[in-house]
Amino acid sequence: MLERGDFACGTSSRSTKLVHGGVRYLEQGRIGLVRESLRERATLLANAPGLVHPIRFVVPAHSRWERAKLRLGLRLYDRLAPMHSRDALGRQVTLPPSRTLTAADAVAVWPGLAAAELSGAVTFSDAQFDDARLAVALARRIRSLGGVTLNYAEVVAVDGDKTGRIVGVQVVDRDPARAARRVRFHAVRASVVVDATGAFTEFARRRVALSRGSHVVLGPEFVRSDHALLIPRTEDGRVLFAIPWYGRLLVGTTDLTSDVAEREPRMSEAELSYLLAHIAPYLHREPKRTDVESAWTGLRALLAGDGGPTSRLSREHGVLETRAGLLSVVGGKWTTYRATAEDVVSRAAEAGGLPPAPSRTASIQLDGDDVSADSTSRDWIRRMVREDSARCVADVLARRSRLLFLDARAAESRSREVAEVLAGELGLTSAWVDEQVREFGRLAAGYLPPGITGTDDAS
Ligand SMILES: Cc1cc2nc3c(=O)[nH]c(=O)nc-3n(C[C@H](O)[C@H](O)[C@H](O)COP(=O)(O)OP(=O)(O)OC[C@H]3O[C@@H](n4cnc5c(N)ncnc54)[C@H](O)[C@@H]3O)c2cc1C
Repeated sequence: MLERGDFACGTSSRSTKLVHGGVRYLEQGRIGLVRESLRERATLLANAPGLVHPIRFVVPAHSRWERAKLRLGLRLYDRLAPMHSRDALGRQVTLPPSRTLTAADAVAVWPGLAAAELSGAVTFSDAQFDDARLAVALARRIRSLGGVTLNYAEVVAVDGDKTGRIVGVQVVDRDPARAARRVRFHAVRASVVVDATGAFTEFARRRVALSRGSHVVLGPEFVRSDHALLIPRTEDGRVLFAIPWYGRLLVGTTDLTSDVAEREPRMSEAELSYLLAHIAPYLHREPKRTDVESAWTGLRALLAGDGGPTSRLSREHGVLETRAGLLSVVGGKWTTYRATAEDVVSRAAEAGGLPPAPSRTASIQLDGDDVSADSTSRDWIRRMVREDSARCVADVLARRSRLLFLDARAAESRSREVAEVLAGELGLTSAWVDEQVREFGRLAAGYLPPGITGTDDAS
């Protein structure tokens, strides 16, 4: 597995962090996708209890009709989910079913709701996870099973034989912890190559529709409930979530057609205003842009459709043989990553002439790291370098700790300390430390909302 940046540096660290069937896909009649997602939710809850956990949602209803409709839909959601799953120790993992609430009970659950405007609410169960940490845990597990995972290994070309069939790739080492030197190409031979580059695919470009999705993170003052809030339809017909995450409130997302696959897309002014304005009626006070502690954007790579809005495009995955010996994976969701991988690996085995073998991944355990989200102790950073391939400040502060995604200013203020520990561990100079601090400062500035600048603590 070759990754040009760090594990999960693309879309996979910028999701809404839900392992979910997707209530809105039910409304769109995508029963197959919902059923598969709920099955994978049960598998993940059982296999990765340190990284995935149940969360309860509340959905406000503004009329009796809306409440009845929600109740019916969420009963169906309950019924599509496997009743129980078992974790590695054989313990049963059961999610409580959906429930109707009166207006007064709804306000008790989510104090920002105004009882006067409510007919009641419905609560239901889903699951939440830490996306980047799950990716890092997956890489660790792959290595423990004898696989090879390399971050900072960019595929720059594919090699073909005389017939045009792909027989391998050319890789360039982009390790940020090495001094600048001549670029060297390494050839990797393979019977089949899988292009799983998401929004950045070059081979399946015409089959991909890009959609931007942005989130803002509000400080602890805005967390007044252990429930998450789902607003099923904003005035312009979109879904909005407000989810407690590591003691802060994650609000998102937008869904806007995009043309460019940027590596670090930035939230626009319009997206920021949209998110703050639409969540304001559900909070104890109106959030201002200075209340935003982090703001980030991801790019969905969806299976292209007939040109309608991206919010209506399917979240199912597709596996396309874009050239002989090359499979491109397009679309999909984090929730169904394992099922997608199972499908891709079976297709790759077939394309590479290997005998079919049943997948074992549904029962492979993934160990979670039970440190808090902003943990950056020196010993912990050293462990991230030795065991989890951290090579630069962003690897530590964005993906192994989630501090950049939670509080960009706090992350920036820790960058020198993190760079110094990394330099000690990797044998690097003070000039490297200074360059890392500058580079991380530029990155962190992009995680502040438009119009807001960070501190100069780190410079
Ligand atoms: C705003 C938003 C919210 C979402 N919320 C959810 C959610 O709550 N639940 C859910 O289930 N799903 C969610 N999704 C969907 C989910 O995040 C994506 O389906 C998933 O992360 C896509 O993973 P990926 O590996 O295909 O793409 P990516 O994570 O982008 O990975 C592709 C990788 O390929 C690497 N790469 C590119 N070119 C090369 C090269 N030449 N050589 C080597 N490496 C290369 C990139 O660096 C990148 O890391 C959300 C998506 C968005 C945008």
